[in-house]
Amino acid sequence: MINKIKGTIDFYNLEAIKYRYLERKVTDVIKDFGFSEIITPIIESTELFVRSTGEESDIAAKEIYSFLDKGNRNVALRPEGTAGVVRSYIENKLYVNNNLTKLYYFGPMFRYERPQAGRYRQFNQFGVEAIGVSSPLLDADVIMSAVNIFKNLGINNIKLVINTIGDFASRSLYSKELQKYFSKDIKSLCSDCNRRLTTSPLRILDCKIDKDNPLILNAPKINDFLTEESNIYFEKVLEVLKTNNVKYEINRNLVRGLDYYTDTVFEFIIESDDQLDGLAICAGGKYSDLVKSLGGPDLPGVGYAFGVERIIAIMSENNLFPNLEPVADVVIIALDDAAKLYSLKLINTLRENNFYAEIDYVNTTMKQQFKLSERLNAKYLIIVGEEELKNKTLTVKSSLDKTQETISEENIIKYLKEKLK
Ligand code: AMP
Repeated sequence: MINKIKGTIDFYNLEAIKYRYLERKVTDVIKDFGFSEIITPIIESTELFVRSTGEESDIAAKEIYSFLDKGNRNVALRPEGTAGVVRSYIENKLYVNNNLTKLYYFGPMFRYERPQAGRYRQFNQFGVEAIGVSSPLLDADVIMSAVNIFKNLGINNIKLVINTIGDFASRSLYSKELQKYFSKDIKSLCSDCNRRLTTSPLRILDCKIDKDNPLILNAPKINDFLTEESNIYFEKVLEVLKTNNVKYEINRNLVRGLDYYTDTVFEFIIESDDQLDGLAICAGGKYSDLVKSLGGPDLPGVGYAFGVERIIAIMSENNLFPNLEPVADVVIIALDDAAKLYSLKLINTLRENNFYAEIDYVNTTMKQQFKLSERLNAKYLIIVGEEELKNKTLTVKSSLDKTQETISEENIIKYLKEKLK
């Protein structure tokens, strides 16, 4: 037997229905915010991710699924959505006709991480990118679109954590200060942090291993190094959130693991009493330099990504999905072989009329066939036996009000339409 690859998931039965339900719900909400869908390839040049997320990011350094293809090109399965969207935005010159382009995506991402609760090697993200305009109002509106999605899904055990990591000037100053501060005792931190000290000291704040180390908790905070412009920008984002009654918590250590962020960064964190507690369910921020650094015009963007599996997990746990079990309009119960043959013709007529109709292809006893109607919660049963075939009638039983009627063959569609539509 060949098993699925470690860290991947099969979605089937109700789980697959939940997945598609979620996709429908979030895309319905995001369309109201003016976002349109972009579908980019799952496979891209490895360089795209190395350049966008930064050579030192966990994604590029440790987690990327990259390989040489048969033409010796270095390609990768995308570990995140933003880089591909921005690549496509530049390549297709989407900036030509609009000063602001709002895009959303939904699909699989790949990271070689240690699988555990809520962490997989192939997982799905829903994400948005608004590219072309720099405005605290836009940042806040993008955050509010995520808030709106949570509201629509009924999820309220989450908290919004927000910070600014400043513009380029603020970050250079802050980076130098962090370098000085951490050099004092860098040996007490993990080997990754030791490497980050010279390459990307901000990343030390984001370390998964040492996140509770007092050295990290007591590190200098970005707010003392922000340029006035960055400060005003962040205050404006917070003001818009406040005006719109969006609750948030400022966490000065929130820096996000990727190189491309500037100014506003945020995460929505799960608050629950099980192993999902503290996990991020959605994360994002503003990126001022990414488009330019990938060869496009000097335009900023802002976006976020949701983890689809994590949303499904919290929604299942909190019973937030409606009843999604399939419900058949009709199950036909055919009591002998002749009736089966006839029923297959009938079932096709029903389906042509847009009824969800099902039949047991094999069994002919009443009891066995009831199992199918129970499994599909059928609203109506149509019973076909010798008698019915002879009289060109059908016995129709309603599971809703338990009544039973004899309906002539030619009237069955009209009858069901009246009852069901
Ligand atoms: P990131 O791109 O790392 O900011 O992740 C955005 C969101 O994707 C996170 O908040 C998670 O909900 C989800 N996510 C990230 N990595 C994984 C993973 N390995 N397995 C499942 N979900 C993930």
